[in-house]
Amino acid sequence: MNELKPSLLDFTKEELLSKIKPSFRVKQIFGWLYHNYAETYDEMKNIPKALKEELAQEYIVNPVKIAKKEISTDGTVKYLLELQDKKTIEAVWLKMKETQLDENGEVIQEAKYTICVSTQVGCKVGCSFCLTAKGGFTRDLTAGEIVAQVVTLKRDNSHEHNRKINIVYMGMGEPLDNLNNLAKAIEIFKDSEGLSISGKRQTVSTSGLSTKIDKLGEMDLGVHIAISLHAVDDELRSELIPMNKAHNISSIIEAVKRFPIDTRKRVMFEYLVIKNKNDDLGSAKKLVKLLSGIKAKVNLIYFNPYPGTDYERPTRDDMVSFQDYLINHGLLCTIRDSKGMDISAACGQLKEKTQKDL
Ligand code: SF4
Repeated sequence: MNELKPSLLDFTKEELLSKIKPSFRVKQIFGWLYHNYAETYDEMKNIPKALKEELAQEYIVNPVKIAKKEISTDGTVKYLLELQDKKTIEAVWLKMKETQLDENGEVIQEAKYTICVSTQVGCKVGCSFCLTAKGGFTRDLTAGEIVAQVVTLKRDNSHEHNRKINIVYMGMGEPLDNLNNLAKAIEIFKDSEGLSISGKRQTVSTSGLSTKIDKLGEMDLGVHIAISLHAVDDELRSELIPMNKAHNISSIIEAVKRFPIDTRKRVMFEYLVIKNKNDDLGSAKKLVKLLSGIKAKVNLIYFNPYPGTDYERPTRDDMVSFQDYLINHGLLCTIRDSKGMDISAACGQLKEKTQKDL
């Protein structure tokens, strides 16, 4: 069924070494892919034509191309990327910190960026607040399609290969539902001769597939995890995330407690705050109790309404009261900036809009 041509980005360096001889060519090709962000064989100037022709028979270079992008005034760039089979996914370039200059105008701290990547076309989880869920599930992304999102966005933003970048697996899809390809992409990102993005710069965000959290932990990839908790009781959580019936809150909390976490790190719990649903202090109290014993950080996210939803954005006052309660009870807690408010910031919105435009 899946007749996509593999891409060079699908393979670890070790795998390329078993396919391409002599081995020094692999080092060169790796440089073209991850230091120069080559998208075609033509760009690989020092690779012999015969080898490029041979490789082109079996592999494409980069399996995604930019179909559309929206640029926010806050520096967020949202991309709609087209895959070989014309399916589309989203990836987002997020500016997390501005460049800092000293009094002489010299750069003392470069701007910091995070890339939010997708792991599936569509999603099976079916969260009620999510546009991606409404389109159903189409297919898993290959490791190369996950890797290509970062390569393509770095290229489009002229971000040198050795500049640090963080990755969050928080775009379309449930990353742990595509665990093997995700794990391979994580390994490819970590390669010191490639992009050299360490595990601690990569955060896997899951809707809470507790058994897969255990599997990810066993792989010992050194990544952070973020849990989309969103509710403190199973009734509301099952309403928001139907698969909560199979992976309830206590099973998620137990899996998190088993996850190998660097002692300097915290587990991030995402809490999407929805007006009159989960924004009251009773919910804050339950959250404190639930997370006791876990080195946790809570990230409160404003629900970002989109056309057709019944849910509403909470007030700023309720957000701050909720945050204060958590902080006063010993939890680290931030309110996430709604980046890209003037563009389609919620998961799946750019894709939806583009399809309507067509
Ligand atoms: S919020 Fe994430 S896990 Fe839930 S349906 Fe949307 S893409 Fe899937």
